[in-house]
Amino acid sequence: MLIVLDLLMPSRCALCRRPGSGLCSGCARTLPPAPDVLTPPGLDDCWALLSYDGDTRRLVAELKYRNHRDALDAVGRALAVYVRSARVPVTELTWAPTSSSRRRARGYDQAELIARATGACADVPVAARLRRCAGTAQTGAGRAQRLAGPSFEPCGTPSGHVVVIDDVWTTGATLAAAGRALRTDRVEHVSGLVLAVRP
Ligand SMILES: [Zn+2]
Repeated sequence: MLIVLDLLMPSRCALCRRPGSGLCSGCARTLPPAPDVLTPPGLDDCWALLSYDGDTRRLVAELKYRNHRDALDAVGRALAVYVRSARVPVTELTWAPTSSSRRRARGYDQAELIARATGACADVPVAARLRRCAGTAQTGAGRAQRLAGPSFEPCGTPSGHVVVIDDVWTTGATLAAAGRALRTDRVEHVSGLVLAVRP
């Protein structure tokens, strides 16, 4: 059944809608690269792929609100390059979870989908290592609340070099909070990896 659906609905580019791949090479070339980023406190390294500007905003919206799964493959492949070329070999990937109400409303957590697509391309395990403490949705929060950021608590037993993935880096507060929560006994190195950073 899935194969039939694939034939009926070939992948389309998330931006120009041409059939082919989830993000065509022509559109991928127009996406603005991330500026240099300062590593937020709580992390040992931080990497960003794109600047959250121009068509990157449309790409993120496709992933976040319309669940454009085909574009995830392209995003996963691009982010996997950072994972594979890390100075300290990466042991596992996780993600900064969105609030449970947003997850319920959308039916998925876009940061988890990005992390799983990246892990599949980088051949690195992906595990839920963070729980978001209640009352801390970022989109639509006031500036003061966004700067303070959400808070997380660890779950499971992360170890080695853990990379935490998020979709958009706004203030760095989410990644910093995630990094702090991941600093458990067996974790030696924590890196952040985001699809896009606000310029
Ligand atoms: Zn395109």
